[in-house]
Amino acid sequence: MGCIFCKIIEGAIPSEKVLENEHVIVIKDINPVAPVHVLVIPKIKGRHIKYVLDLEEGDEQLVMEIHKAIKEVAVLTGIDKDGFRVINNCGKYGGQSVDHLHYHVIGGKNLGAGLI
Ligand code: AMP
Ligand code: ZN
Repeated sequence: MGCIFCKIIEGAIPSEKVLENEHVIVIKDINPVAPVHVLVIPKIKGRHIKYVLDLEEGDEQLVMEIHKAIKEVAVLTGIDKDGFRVINNCGKYGGQSVDHLHYHVIGGKNLGAGLI
């Protein structure tokens, strides 16, 4: 299938990797909206998870690994000190443009209190 994040995970498309382990890859967003803008992308074997609505009973470890990676990348980039935002866009009205579960981790400046 033509999923750009699957291709990045496979190494078929180049990316700026910030960290990687057997569960996730974290890359710099190609179109950053803040000094730090990375994408935490789970490596999902055997099925394709488009968004959170596809998560099921049994995916608990995957969800934890995503959160561990968010914490790790926050410390790595230094945004843990002043705070940051985690965003997950879901479907059409959520503005999702890549149909592979991923979380934006954004920081390095004051993002303010607004959500949209
Ligand atoms: P979303 O709109 O939540 O689906 O987020 C998709 C994100 O992927 C956008 O912020 C894009 O800038 C980013 N993106 C798309 N293609 C690439 C790529 N090849 N490398 C890094 N980031 C990408
Ligand atoms: Zn994919």
